[in-house]
Amino acid sequence: MTCIFCQIAAGAAPATVVYEDAAVVAIRDLAPQAPSHVLVIPRVHVNSLVELEDPALMAALLHGAQRVAEVEKLGNGFRLVTNIGRDGCQSVAHLHFHVLGGAPLGGSLVG
Ligand code: AMP
Repeated sequence: MTCIFCQIAAGAAPATVVYEDAAVVAIRDLAPQAPSHVLVIPRVHVNSLVELEDPALMAALLHGAQRVAEVEKLGNGFRLVTNIGRDGCQSVAHLHFHVLGGAPLGGSLVG
C-alpha cells in the first residue's frame, strides 16, 4: 500500500488541491493550524528532507510554496515548515512543506 500522500499525488485519494505542477501538488491540510494551511508535496515518494537528493526537486518544492503564497494571497507573510523524523514530530513519512498564513502566527511552531 502506497502512503497517503502518494495516493493523493496520484489522484487516488481525495484532497483539495490549491496548486499543482509536474513535480509537486499542494493541498489543504485536513487539520488546519492557521486560516490558510497548505501542504506542498512532491509527486515522487521521499521520506523527508534529509533523504531528498534531487536539487531540482528541492527548488520545485520551494517554487510550489511561492505559488501557494500567491494563490492564497499571503502577501502579509507566512511560515514555511517541514517536520523531519521522530524528534521533529513528522507524522506523515512523505516529505511535505507546510505553508501557514492568513493571520499573525505568533511564536508557536507546527508540531
Ligand atoms: P507532519 O506532522 O509535519 O508530518 O504533518 C502532516 C500533516 O498532514 C498534518 O498537518 C495532517 O493534518 C496532514 N494530513 C494528514 N493526512 C492528510 C490528508 N489525507 N489530507 C490532508 N492533510 C493530511
